[in-house]
Amino acid sequence: MTLANHPPHDRWHDWTELDAKAWPDKVERNYTIVPTTCFNCEAACGLTAFVDNETGEIAKFEGNPEHPASRGRNCAKGPATKNQVDDPERVLHPMKRVGERGSGRWERISWDQALDEIGGRIRTAIQEGRNNEVMYHVGRPGEDGYTERVLKAWGVDGHNSHTNICSSNARIGYQSWMGFDRPSSDFANAEVIFLVSAHLEAGHYFNPHAQRIMEGKAKGAKVIVVDPRLSNTGAKADYWLATWPGTEPFMLLAIARLLIENGTWQRDFVRRWVNWETYLRETRPDLPCEFESLETALLDAYADYTPERAEHVSGVSADTIREIAAIIGAHPTKLASHNWRAAGAGNLGGWQVARCLFFLNVLTGSVATVGGTSGNGWNKMAPPHPFGGQPITEWNELSWPKEYPLAYHEMSILLPHFLNEGRGKLDTYFSRVYNPIWTNPDGFSWMEALLDERKVECHVALTPTWSETAWYADYVLPMGLGSERHDLASFETHAGRWVGFRQPVMRRYAELRGDDVGPDRRTHEFNHGEVWEENEFWIDLSWRIDPDGSLGIRRFFESAERPGRPVGVDEYYTRLFDGVPGLSDAAAEAGQSTLEFMRDRAAFAVPGDMITPYERPVSADAVDGCAKDDDGVYRKPGTAGAWDGSDDSLDDLTLVGLGDGSPAVEIDGELKTGFPTPSKKLELFSTTLRDWGWPEYATPTWIPSHVHWEDLDMAGNERILLPTFRIPTLIHTRSGNSKWLNEISHRHPLWIHPSDAETLGIEENGLVRITTRIGHFVISAWRTEGIRPGVVAASHHMGRWRIEEDEARSWGNGKARVSHDGTTWKLTREHGMRTWESADDDTRRIWWNDTGVHQNLTFSVQPDPISGMQCWHQRVRVAPAEAGDRYGDVVVDTAKARDAYLDWLSKTRPAPGPGGLRRPLWYARPLKPQASAYRAAP
Ligand code: SF4
Repeated sequence: MTLANHPPHDRWHDWTELDAKAWPDKVERNYTIVPTTCFNCEAACGLTAFVDNETGEIAKFEGNPEHPASRGRNCAKGPATKNQVDDPERVLHPMKRVGERGSGRWERISWDQALDEIGGRIRTAIQEGRNNEVMYHVGRPGEDGYTERVLKAWGVDGHNSHTNICSSNARIGYQSWMGFDRPSSDFANAEVIFLVSAHLEAGHYFNPHAQRIMEGKAKGAKVIVVDPRLSNTGAKADYWLATWPGTEPFMLLAIARLLIENGTWQRDFVRRWVNWETYLRETRPDLPCEFESLETALLDAYADYTPERAEHVSGVSADTIREIAAIIGAHPTKLASHNWRAAGAGNLGGWQVARCLFFLNVLTGSVATVGGTSGNGWNKMAPPHPFGGQPITEWNELSWPKEYPLAYHEMSILLPHFLNEGRGKLDTYFSRVYNPIWTNPDGFSWMEALLDERKVECHVALTPTWSETAWYADYVLPMGLGSERHDLASFETHAGRWVGFRQPVMRRYAELRGDDVGPDRRTHEFNHGEVWEENEFWIDLSWRIDPDGSLGIRRFFESAERPGRPVGVDEYYTRLFDGVPGLSDAAAEAGQSTLEFMRDRAAFAVPGDMITPYERPVSADAVDGCAKDDDGVYRKPGTAGAWDGSDDSLDDLTLVGLGDGSPAVEIDGELKTGFPTPSKKLELFSTTLRDWGWPEYATPTWIPSHVHWEDLDMAGNERILLPTFRIPTLIHTRSGNSKWLNEISHRHPLWIHPSDAETLGIEENGLVRITTRIGHFVISAWRTEGIRPGVVAASHHMGRWRIEEDEARSWGNGKARVSHDGTTWKLTREHGMRTWESADDDTRRIWWNDTGVHQNLTFSVQPDPISGMQCWHQRVRVAPAEAGDRYGDVVVDTAKARDAYLDWLSKTRPAPGPGGLRRPLWYARPLKPQASAYRAAP
């Protein structure tokens, strides 16, 4: 017997271990171990479910050692899947509203009824040409492109996402350099790790990243963390830089300038792979257009970005900036950096945080190197979805409005305002694992819109749990957690590619025991209650939309193995997995089909490395028929890159998911793969930003934030509120149904520096009124030196609420009353957590009371005019609570919210852009319509 972290894979179907709960008695339990994938954040770590062969129930979840990204490890939220599955308050059956919308009166219905009624609505909408009145609004996707494919099959431009409250800023910062919109950092092999985020405890791809950051640090990497708040990440760093919010680009550019001044930039990498010729032509026509001019041009362009000036603007000392520049310069090609949410998500112009951070990667040649930072597309495996779809011909103005032609994702935060303005209405609105009333800014405007049945005729909430938004639905349809559904997952967690498989554990367990799981069975037959999964739901719904095939939709959901019958998940995933490079060989070696291999392990590391893929040679055949432009880029006829701007030829273009379809670029006389940008190079100068109305931001630069400290009344009681940080043990909405996570995390103080607290008269634990542009909330204070003076902070994870005493309860939502007088809305906390009777004895043992304060309701929409990202940081007045204020009070005037919306709208520079288009053809879009739909309406 040896100690091991995990049961060996070859014993997963018959594993015996001692029952920890029975200690000190030695009681053996025999398990079947079924692998799946966690659904509790975007990282998609591997899980293993231990199914007790005696009870037939899942006893626990542990990590999956077969998973290449998580490597058998999880954060607290992974094993907490057990709580969510067993939660006594979860939604177990399809429900239909019977009272007024929002009244909380429901009846249980069958899945058949739900499918018939919703399918019938959508069928009518499509028959009447109202395709774009069908909208699917997703919070946690958890799957890779499945629903986009469904919408494409329906011919509906109805995809809407949560991205513009999350990552649009970071995305456009990265995309404007390299085409790819996310970084993929090789932390494990880095020598310098530069994080503009609280990455160790709450980063994007939290657990896979955290373990590799610590691996890099253990090997000697220096860790630099930028955050006005002393996060656990900052506490582990060699350098914690508490910048003024929104000044990060200034400090980063000062470092960039020092790299150039010190001669520690990688000149040959920049010469080969940066579009410096365009930069010189556009910014310094007075200089010879030769590489030797670039240094002068850059030093001139960034002349104001001295360490001393950066110290004044950002608050980080000039000496520290010099020290960090020296460290970065001493480690060429080995800088792994990351920015997600944090400063990028908080500030007007926050997209320049990612652009200026990646500038350091470019200058040090740390781009897709060992120990550097790559593009997400190179480390993510996205096999093509079988069965396809039809071209989308109509542009959805509700999600992609003309004012935001460069918005990196749908302008979802503005949906209530667009509906108010009569820009459209929704026939059928799916909210999917999404809770916009609580999660989005300006939640009372969402509530107003969802209460108005002329604006949203039918709201279908696809959700694993009750939420503030599901309460305002017409149908609440229970969808599965990580152990209850099928999904494909693949993310750029490290320098390597993988695919993960989420599978319904009890369905797989039944299969292993020889039960029928054939294509006529449905996953809800194996889960608790009638909890289903979206994949089968969409297949069956599509058949109800087009039962006779006359709409041309059904064929995209029809089995090839059983013509005339709906495709089953086994057939679907077999075809999908057969398209994953190397998987067929690995499966054959194991004597399995690709599907059986994935059901058995739930993860696969795609062979081969993706180091400097832009350097890969391209054969002369691949550019046959292409025209070469003056910058050495080969343009393929019929692709966006070769478009001549004429109206007729637009109709004939084939658009790719990302990039403009150019196959190669000539570098030093050789054909190379390059980057998916118009220049096929890293774009120091973005011609797209220039052409679409933002020439002043075509290069990496600093855009003063809407909360820039020099513009605030700091002598009075104005401060900057950081509402963006995550708590590592909480998920957004879904953690409400985890008792373990809520027992760990249920306090919600406002972080305030003692010097500010003294000045403003705020006591420790004293009540504070935070006044925003549209309202106020009341919270309690925590004096801490872990926050920059002038800045206050509160996590966005807290403040869950429910309206009814005995319905939609969770382990973390207090009872609240919502009322309004005209446009003035109030949320009043009636009480926090209390015990209650349920099938779970632990509901009688709840010992905590606090559930936090909901702050997002008091934030107006503040979309960045370029990226469309909600600029989350708030300019607030901080004062002791007033007479009559109570903890948890929220007051908002939605008329002021509308004024704020119009104010921010006025910052935009609307389409049409070049060629009369709504959006650059080369930009990615979750669901890309055909090229002719890009033509702006006259
Ligand atoms: S980081 Fe935690 S919550 Fe996220 S997928 Fe991994 S185990 Fe789940």
